[in-house]
Amino acid sequence: MKIHNFSGGPAVLPDFVYNQAADAIKNYQGTGLSLLEISHRSPTFAAILEETEERLRRLLSIPSNYAVLFLAGGASQHFAQIPMNFLTNKTEAAYLDSGVWASHAINEAKYYGNVQVVATGKMQDYTAIPVDYIIPDASAYFHYTSNNTIYGTALYEVPKTNVPLICDRSSDILSAKIEVSSFDIVYASVQKNAGAAGVSIVVIKEDLLARVNPHIPNVFNYNVLATHKSLYNTPPVFAIYSTLLNLQWLESQGGVEEIEKLNQIKSDLLYQEIERNSLFTGRVCNISQRSKMNVTFLANHPEHEQEFLDFAAQRQVIGIKQYANYGGFRASLYNALDLESVKALISVMQEFEVFKHITTK
Ligand SMILES: *Cc1c(COP(=O)(O)O)cnc(C)c1O
Repeated sequence: MKIHNFSGGPAVLPDFVYNQAADAIKNYQGTGLSLLEISHRSPTFAAILEETEERLRRLLSIPSNYAVLFLAGGASQHFAQIPMNFLTNKTEAAYLDSGVWASHAINEAKYYGNVQVVATGKMQDYTAIPVDYIIPDASAYFHYTSNNTIYGTALYEVPKTNVPLICDRSSDILSAKIEVSSFDIVYASVQKNAGAAGVSIVVIKEDLLARVNPHIPNVFNYNVLATHKSLYNTPPVFAIYSTLLNLQWLESQGGVEEIEKLNQIKSDLLYQEIERNSLFTGRVCNISQRSKMNVTFLANHPEHEQEFLDFAAQRQVIGIKQYANYGGFRASLYNALDLESVKALISVMQEFEVFKHITTK
């Protein structure tokens, strides 16, 4: 029986990815060699890297004046690497604090220079993203998180600014159309929406590469990494291949445009059920900021929380416990989570409501 996996990340990937990856580990495309024993400098891997970049460029319509990098390490590494490259103790960077990951990025930047937090959602428990703030023109850059994986909020409008705009898209990359040219850097670890853990995607405007602080180690220097086309040292070969498979799958599904429509349908259905169901309440009140990737909700009766998790698990619905000990539920509806799984969760919620014999809020 199918398990419906709503995990926040690493998260469900398409069966196509699992099957092809398993074959590639045993015998990569009839070469008689495992993908894991092939040199990262071989023509075989060069072809993988090239196709991964090509497909990502096509799927996101990445302009030619942007470099595309596939780098070891997760988004958290870029929390440190971005200020390391672009912030000094004489400059200041602006950050929007919209949740846990945004504040991690802020804390890492403080090691390199001054940080101005232009606004924070902390006082509202991050259930809303502040939209009124001023980004100082002298900022080295402005950093924000487009989708707050833990709180289930998302910012759909791109902030307007004259300074380089940097966006962490770890939990919504490839889920909906974006205009890459509005940004100077878009980065994401892939394990939520685009592949197996171990690699992050960094899309960076070439103009910005010229501004990298040269006095940092090569292995962290975006300019050096771009010059070597992600092959400065051994890249995470398997994670990159898993990303390629994911991109192949996504294109076979009609690309970002089609998946965006499906993501809208999936999240609409679930939010509707949360509103209808007498046992649950959505965590994010501002409808225009509700995430389509991570749907967060609470049990109206706290004593139902563990009971519902167990009830769901018995019906093959897993991964809906909220991050760490934040309480409540989070259902992650990434690209690879199909409509059938969303419907399964909804019927479990309905069944639970009947089971509890509670029909009024
Ligand atoms: C998961 C996540 C991260 C952290 O990613 P790692 O790969 O664990 O470093 C950062 N930002 C966002 C928005 C995330 O969802």
